[in-house]
Amino acid sequence: MYDLILRNGTLYDVSRGLRGEVADIAIENGVIRKIAPDIPENAPHEIEVSGRTVTPGLIDFHAHFYAGGTGIALKFSTYWPAGVTSAVDAGSAGFGNIESFLSSQTEEERRNTKAYLYLGSGGLSTLPAHNENIHPKYFDRKKIKMLCERYTDRICGLKLRISAPIAEISGTTSLDSLRIGVEIAEECGLPISVHIPDFQGNLSQLIDILRPGDIFCHVFTPKRGILEDDRISPEIVRGRKKGVVMESACGKGHLGNRVAAMAIQEGFYPDIISGDFTKANYTFSPAGTLPYLMSRFMALGMTFEQVLACCTSFPAKKMGMEGKLGCIREGTPANLAVFQREQGEFIFSDVEGDTILGHEMLIPQATILEGEVVYNQTLCRSRPTNDSSL
Ligand SMILES: [Zn+2]
Repeated sequence: MYDLILRNGTLYDVSRGLRGEVADIAIENGVIRKIAPDIPENAPHEIEVSGRTVTPGLIDFHAHFYAGGTGIALKFSTYWPAGVTSAVDAGSAGFGNIESFLSSQTEEERRNTKAYLYLGSGGLSTLPAHNENIHPKYFDRKKIKMLCERYTDRICGLKLRISAPIAEISGTTSLDSLRIGVEIAEECGLPISVHIPDFQGNLSQLIDILRPGDIFCHVFTPKRGILEDDRISPEIVRGRKKGVVMESACGKGHLGNRVAAMAIQEGFYPDIISGDFTKANYTFSPAGTLPYLMSRFMALGMTFEQVLACCTSFPAKKMGMEGKLGCIREGTPANLAVFQREQGEFIFSDVEGDTILGHEMLIPQATILEGEVVYNQTLCRSRPTNDSSL
């Protein structure tokens, strides 16, 4: 017998070409058992989601959920009401404390999250009081390699922040630190994710150092980043052709409306849309929540399906969880998000006060994590129309 059925949802899954088909989803033992227009059986719990959009549970590829290990991190469960059921921790822990982080996780967290290991010993444990040290002489190659091998299913990359103030306080330079970081990542057979805003050196050098699959993080920062002579630099386009992954994590203010609008107008889209949510920015403008950032990118000119891919199928691939997370398929874990696609006029500000006008806001309605309803607002909403464009 099924445990839960979602009735009449408008389904979207970019990975298998579901584009607004209306169907029921039946769940048993935490797994999607059946997807069909009219499932005749009943279940003890049913949620009517007609007129609402059902997507795979969102993946926040740049998260901080080492709660208790750094002053900035949130709890993994804090993400759930926004439709997020999977996340990748972006370097909250380094080689000195990653085992403490991993051992503090619940089994549920272990199944649905992964971590990037910071190259500096303590990760981001000193934040928000002061920045970490990124001098390469402190990167313990041997230990980093050992940990990446020991936790091969938990650690999916290395992390480094190379902003000028961090390099300066560490007595190194952005690119010296990065060169060694990439060397170690190469030895570990993993990608490196690089926080680039305000890096020292030039973009051409940076792109030369990064390898295909490495992550260029905070790509639309209004700080020193991808602009040259106030234009989108051809170097970043070269980076994309080379296979560098372009990630737009918002964080406190690394999603500049003007930079993003210029890039998107030129057909330069992000591969990943992520939050970089911390205690300092989660649920507050300009970062908000992941669906809020997806709505912001729709205001910037991307389609719903494009932004959905950036928060489901693409990050699932980078986690090595393709076909398991970030999709709606029979036989896969029942991680689902339900949204109301509210039409109207919405103003999105960035950290500099630049505003853009959007016409759609994704409002989370329900979140299912491994078959469990962890958030549900559908009872409180007015009855939607059956207009499938909603
Ligand atoms: Zn971050």
